[in-house]
Amino acid sequence: MKFYSTRNKDRKVSFKEAIFRGLAPDGGLYMPEQVPALKEIIDSFAPETPFVEISSVIANSLLSEELNKEACDRICYNAFNFVPKLVDIGDGIHILELFHGPSCAFKDFGASFLASCMEEFLLTDSRKATILTATSGDTGSAVARAFYGKKNIDVVILYPSGRVSPLQEKQLTTLGGNIRTLEVKGSFDDCQKMVKEAFLDRELSESLKLTSANSISLGRLIPQSFYYIWAWAQMKGRRDNLRFCVPSGNFGNLTAGIMANQWGMGNKGFIAATNINDVVPEYIKKGSFIPRKSKLTLSNAMDVGNPSNFERMLEIFGNSHNKMSNLISEDVVTDKETKETIRNLLAKSNYQADPHTAVGYLSSVRNKKRDETIISLSTAHPGKFTEVFEEATGITPDLPKRLSEVLVLEKKSTVIGNSLKDMKAVL
Ligand SMILES: *Cc1c(COP(=O)(O)O)cnc(C)c1O
Repeated sequence: MKFYSTRNKDRKVSFKEAIFRGLAPDGGLYMPEQVPALKEIIDSFAPETPFVEISSVIANSLLSEELNKEACDRICYNAFNFVPKLVDIGDGIHILELFHGPSCAFKDFGASFLASCMEEFLLTDSRKATILTATSGDTGSAVARAFYGKKNIDVVILYPSGRVSPLQEKQLTTLGGNIRTLEVKGSFDDCQKMVKEAFLDRELSESLKLTSANSISLGRLIPQSFYYIWAWAQMKGRRDNLRFCVPSGNFGNLTAGIMANQWGMGNKGFIAATNINDVVPEYIKKGSFIPRKSKLTLSNAMDVGNPSNFERMLEIFGNSHNKMSNLISEDVVTDKETKETIRNLLAKSNYQADPHTAVGYLSSVRNKKRDETIISLSTAHPGKFTEVFEEATGITPDLPKRLSEVLVLEKKSTVIGNSLKDMKAVL
């Protein structure tokens, strides 16, 4: 299988090239050139089939030209020492918990698989690379944890000083080893600008073999399809009328689900749930896509005003609004409703949900048809959003050990100014 850019169908690249490039040179996003027919394979999985085995089989089905079965096993067993969990919450809704990885958010699946793939290719080719990335808080920790200890890879993460939460800062700065964090005296926009400039700086880019681990990377998109297929296998015998509900921001998570559906997963459709940053729901309702500035909400990992993966969604549906809206319905949840949902879930089901999960859950409840089963994706652990949870319920959420442990570790970061020159001086 080869991969093409959403902006140029003719220039095809290997999976390896696609993951080390991140973004295509023409600014487009990489897409699989074929829709593989995997229905038989997907339906062969049993509820007992381990997640990592499903991952390896699907990865090998897609990437066999470049990665044989042994390599796919190695990559998946290295990447996934954590698994998704499916919780029956009642009334025909199941919550698919995707926060059992090292940084307690669903981005661990994508980041871990990408890191293992890069390590596999770099070791095979005996070369090295440096991941350079900027974070406003949450995404950086999944990358840091995923690449920690990987051979032949160094990681440099920039974050804006004083503008990430104390927990996020600890998650970013306490690893050490091959993970270097630069605390920038400036804004997140400054950090992003410095990263962009570094990639354009030939000398720096070539001497460090800079590469990116952006959320739009194909190597992060593909593994996000694995947990849909795992959940589908869990529901064997009860899945005639099943939809997934996906709390969305940049729409990578939903795109991966749509891809699995195209490959042959038999779910009836999807619900795209957002907070008031609703440009995609608006497109689904009205057929016009109007990006705008993002607004701050309680589910801030979904505060995206111009979701990049929309380009991939259009590509999948051949720009047909009709086709997209036949498979995907939408719902928009306010902050007030998010808090109410967190409170209700705790009171009614004794279930602790983070704000993003709450957006998905309320959309599931509101859109579920009779006799339908909904799998509602949970994207983060409530312990990552303590303040919102406390405001909504009056109690403190449980904190998983891997989060409470980092709080007592020592911060290791280098403070720098907000220009490329400042960054070059320390690299
Ligand atoms: C990134 C993120 C999302 C949004 O996922 P997309 O793939 O960008 O739509 C939702 N919830 C949490 C907790 C996230 O970190």
